Amino acid sequence: MKNNNDSQQQSSFRPIVGIDLGTTTSAVAYIHMGKPDMVPSPHNKRIIPSVVLIDLQGKVIVGEDARAALIAMPDRAIAAVKRKMGSSEPILLAGQALLPQEISALILKELKSYVDAHFGAGEKEAVITVPAYFTDEQRRATKQAGELAGFVVERIINEPTAAALAFGLGHIDEDRHILVYDLGGGTFDVSVIEMMSGLLEVKASTGNSLLGGEDFDWKIVDCLAEQMIKEHGVDPRLDLRAKALLKAEAEKIKMTLSTEEAVTVSLPLLAVQNNHPIGLLIEFTRSQFIALIDTLLLETLTCVQRVLQEANLKPSDIDEILLVGGSTRIPRVHEIMSDYFGREPRMDVHPDEAVALGAAVQAGLKSGALAESGLIATDVAPFSMGISVLKEWKGNQVRPGGFHIILPRNTTIPVTRSDTFCTAFDDQTSASIEIYQGEHEWVKHNHLLGEFILAGIPSNSAGAEGIEVTYRYNLNGILEVTAKCVSTGKAMTVTVQDALNRDSQEAFAASAAKLEALYNNDDDDDDDDELELEDGYDEEDILESDDSPTVLHAEAAALLERAQDLLGEFKGQESTRIEKLITSLQEAMDRGDIDLLQRVIDEATDTMIDLEV
Ligand code: ADP
Ligand code: MG
Repeated sequence: MKNNNDSQQQSSFRPIVGIDLGTTTSAVAYIHMGKPDMVPSPHNKRIIPSVVLIDLQGKVIVGEDARAALIAMPDRAIAAVKRKMGSSEPILLAGQALLPQEISALILKELKSYVDAHFGAGEKEAVITVPAYFTDEQRRATKQAGELAGFVVERIINEPTAAALAFGLGHIDEDRHILVYDLGGGTFDVSVIEMMSGLLEVKASTGNSLLGGEDFDWKIVDCLAEQMIKEHGVDPRLDLRAKALLKAEAEKIKMTLSTEEAVTVSLPLLAVQNNHPIGLLIEFTRSQFIALIDTLLLETLTCVQRVLQEANLKPSDIDEILLVGGSTRIPRVHEIMSDYFGREPRMDVHPDEAVALGAAVQAGLKSGALAESGLIATDVAPFSMGISVLKEWKGNQVRPGGFHIILPRNTTIPVTRSDTFCTAFDDQTSASIEIYQGEHEWVKHNHLLGEFILAGIPSNSAGAEGIEVTYRYNLNGILEVTAKCVSTGKAMTVTVQDALNRDSQEAFAASAAKLEALYNNDDDDDDDDELELEDGYDEEDILESDDSPTVLHAEAAALLERAQDLLGEFKGQESTRIEKLITSLQEAMDRGDIDLLQRVIDEATDTMIDLEV
């Protein structure tokens, strides 16, 4: 029986690839003879710049050539789109409005062409990595980018987990604590991972999604621009081309300073003044560079300290320090880390390839190619997740919009947790379940993942009916929420990801058509319609509440009472705001218009929270 299965598995073996979709560089890897290996480009490049160009003929070009065009055609080429992932604001590229995930899909399509060239055309599955600190929205945008590129996205995994997996495969028998410090082009991530008997468990993870090598380049750009202003009274940053040229030069300077102590900057044709070219010729030293970026680097150390604290470990508990990401080639990074830990970081993990190789390891675990390895990876939830509740405010009052955490940040996943709540009003027969992620005690400051209404709660006095809310969070970072009325057992479940998928099918089809048109060089296609991926749920998933007016009225009445109390505490502008709020609450209650009432309640809640600050 077992043998049969094995041969079946062998014959139907489909390679799943691992992809590092980086801000600056991207790469794809697979498992070859039990080991992860890169899938190179036809030009034999193991990593490619994450840059997309739509050239003058409307042709899509990705990688090194696109990167070279950043200076000459800044409005046709785009870099660092990963920083915008999750945003619904389109980016104008060669006159076309594209969403960040659509541009990312073009990068992934390029990688897919390498995979197809290697394994033959056909459906391919992929594991794609994201920074541990990516929000739910950013993860979904990444997954969508993969699907738009034609991959079946098997899993989204965290980059540090991937890096640890790449290391773990070669050290399966060692039990240790690994700190992964990943400083790339646009993001910084640090994680502590425990490896025990082949089980890799992320203990804690933190970072800064807006910190990386790009910032170091811009620091150099600013420094050089100031020098230009001093010498010639001209700010080169005001000219798009000069700015792009300076940025490219800044990166070269930075890289040279990783191996040299000083570099001569020679930019004779940076700008034009009175019909004469003007430029820069200066000496730039490593210590000057370090002085510019040291505050940023020390910020990464603060994150390291925080992650250790969250994992409940001392620096001396860390057995291995893995430096990942191109920016860890800066000698000062090495120095800060070895000073802090009193030990040298490991040099045998390839900073550019570790994440893609690790994604391939995860893919191999999934496809069965590494089933015998004994490796298992778990992860942690990067944010706290919970629901909006009535919460005590200023001692004796309660108000809506408090954040009740069900899954605390850094909980090991997959996980299931439940909490029971009770009805807030007499005769409350429905409850609104608002799902949030974030760390603030008021949901207003957190991120709404979705909401639904549990109807059919038996009419009873306030507090008498229990509602059990269960959160299930899986390894893909996908959340399933169930609300159950305790007395009747009636339950409703919403999967944040599924609901969104259904909702965005139309947007997905439109995106796919748009990309198709791009590849067909369809210059006439100037459909600039904004394509928004809206957070929301399929109608079928939402049980309309029969009697939500009762609940809304009760909420409005409670708010009105509080607003009247507040009136005495404020003067001037604030008191006028409260008066207006009281009038609109009263009007909305009198009119009996549910939509209006909901709007006014939302506004009133916002105003109350503002006033508290
Ligand atoms: P990402 O994960 O964001 O795609 P990478 O890990 O590929 O990023 O790192 C890219 C960053 O590393 C860029 O900002 C690049 O300038 C920087 N980098 C690459 N090589 C060096 C080097 N030798 N010295 C300093 N920085 C470098
Ligand atoms: Mg990276």
